[in-house]
Amino acid sequence: AQAALFQSQKMETVGQLTGGIAHDFNNLLTIIVNNLDLLTRSVTGARETRLIESAQHAAERGAQLTQQLLAFSRRQPLQSALHDPVRLIEGFETVLRRACGEAVNLQLSLPSRISMINVDGAQFEAALLNLVVNARDAMPDGGDLTIAIGETNLTEDRAAIRSIPAGPYVVVTVKDTGMGMTPDVASRVFEPFFTTKEVGKGTGLGLSQVYGFITQSGGHIEVDSTLGQGTTITMLLPAHGEGQETGDEEQSDTVRPAR
Ligand code: ADP
Repeated sequence: AQAALFQSQKMETVGQLTGGIAHDFNNLLTIIVNNLDLLTRSVTGARETRLIESAQHAAERGAQLTQQLLAFSRRQPLQSALHDPVRLIEGFETVLRRACGEAVNLQLSLPSRISMINVDGAQFEAALLNLVVNARDAMPDGGDLTIAIGETNLTEDRAAIRSIPAGPYVVVTVKDTGMGMTPDVASRVFEPFFTTKEVGKGTGLGLSQVYGFITQSGGHIEVDSTLGQGTTITMLLPAHGEGQETGDEEQSDTVRPAR
């Protein structure tokens, strides 16, 4: 529990630091992008146009990175709404399968009925995609990737170690049979810019973005990994009563009170 507490305080501090930098950087990038836009209107030469386009491309890439940092540091507002997590995943299945490639065997283990979660749907999809891409990268020669959804009721003590309130949670697990991680790597994966991938391949921002999204949504994320065997990422998100076929909450008596 002590280690978990220390970890979350550290992440809080790192979040404040990177959030401030990302915010200022974003403002600077906005100036660069706007000025380049103005330039393209007066410049006619082919070479100059190419140079400006290349600078625009770099500025856009920079903006993407600062967006990821802002997502991690909780400075990006979330558009949260009640979603059925099973439907979110089913609606995103094609993209996930494409990201897996040929070698990885993706299995979805989805229940027919599940509680709703109050999340930003686009961020939920982005988080899943990040996890799937990491799993694929961990299985260059192929393997099994399972995305499963379940539910759990966290007791006071099981919730306290995770620094979240007790109560019902939807559990999303992403499990691969890839290369796994050493305990040292596993303890650092949520830190922004931590990557073991070669330069140009990894930014080290994927899992920080997922971490920011999950904690900002009132949830918890943990990693369980064994070197040479595989990795399981578990995400807990507060459950908000049963999913509705009609979406009409008021007429139903099966809906548990929203927390
Ligand atoms: P990136 O993918 O750009 O490196 P991430 O924040 O997504 O950034 O991941 C950080 C690091 O965590 C990765 O470089 C890798 O070492 C490790 N990692 C993440 N997911 C997995 C996984 N499924 N299996 C093994 N290692 C992983």
